[in-house]
Amino acid sequence: MCLCFGCVSLIFAGFNLLINNFAVLGYLELGLCAYCVHTFVRLNRHALQLRQSLIMCALVTLVIVLGNYFALIKNGLFIWSFALPVLYYLLLGKRFGILFSATLLFLQVFILVNKASLFPFLPLNFGLNLLFVYVSIWAVSHVFEGSRALSSKRLKSLALLDPLTGAGNRLSMNHYFEVELTDKSQLYLFLLDLDYFKQVNDKYGHDVGDKVLIEVATLLRITLAKGYVFRVGGEEFALISSFNNADDALNTAEKLRSVIENTVIDINGEKINITISVGVASYQQDQSLEEFAKEADKQLYKAKRFGRNKVYAKSSTHQKIELESV
Ligand code: GH3
Ligand code: MG
Ligand code: MG
Repeated sequence: MCLCFGCVSLIFAGFNLLINNFAVLGYLELGLCAYCVHTFVRLNRHALQLRQSLIMCALVTLVIVLGNYFALIKNGLFIWSFALPVLYYLLLGKRFGILFSATLLFLQVFILVNKASLFPFLPLNFGLNLLFVYVSIWAVSHVFEGSRALSSKRLKSLALLDPLTGAGNRLSMNHYFEVELTDKSQLYLFLLDLDYFKQVNDKYGHDVGDKVLIEVATLLRITLAKGYVFRVGGEEFALISSFNNADDALNTAEKLRSVIENTVIDINGEKINITISVGVASYQQDQSLEEFAKEADKQLYKAKRFGRNKVYAKSSTHQKIELESV
């Protein structure tokens, strides 16, 4: 789209500079063309930012409004106005779409009302047709963008959230770690596994087991407060958060363990006690998520092997936390 806009504005710039002798508009179109090419090149390396979309829409609007202001109606420049609501909604979404579309309508009405002549059109017929076509295109763009945004949100949650517990899934953990987390200093990963969970299923049934998983996920989210909870296996969760220091991280891991141990989960009158084992890893520079999780898994394995209902990390001072000699 950037390239397409760049080419169109270059053609019009040439036309306005060489044939129409309309220097202001010609140079503005050259500026738009340069910005389109610049954005196109940047997009090969970075995602499109709202700021770039805003600048692009503002430039296109300026070109159309100025052209309409200076040119005679018979040149037909006003026709471009009908394409703009579509562009606004496509690039900027609903909120800015409304703002830009309303501003353009206001400016164009103001310009047309103050034009000396609307020749060869009849002013009333011309004005009404313009208004209704513009408002129709605006309304369609608005409704379309609304339903597109909604389905995109639904698809995103289908792809990224675990349907049972509402926690993020493995895919969202990857995305969070690779894309969203820019500062990985003092980052910790807790890998948690419910102890003897098979016995809960065997004793109370799979449905009750599912509800226990939902309760545990909720307890983890509430207790962690800062950070993200992901369900990475049947009864396995990964928590990613940053802490001021290792002690803070280990105290939080221990708090999670203790909260789960001391909460009696009530499912349909059945009182269920559950415990978790936790492996803690601190992020080492340039580690991949796989390596990071592997270290936490190593610690989790030890927590299981040496008794369960424990937090294992490379070093700690907490009573319930087992130390690994480094
Ligand atoms: P350990 O302390 O060694 O982790 O024992 P465990 O019984 O928790 O471990 P194991 O891996 O032997 O069993 C995990 C169980 O988790 C087996 C499976 O029935 C149960 N499970 C996995 N996913 C789900 C789920 O989505 N819902 C329910 N209800 N149970 C699940
Ligand atoms: Mg288990
Ligand atoms: Mg397991």
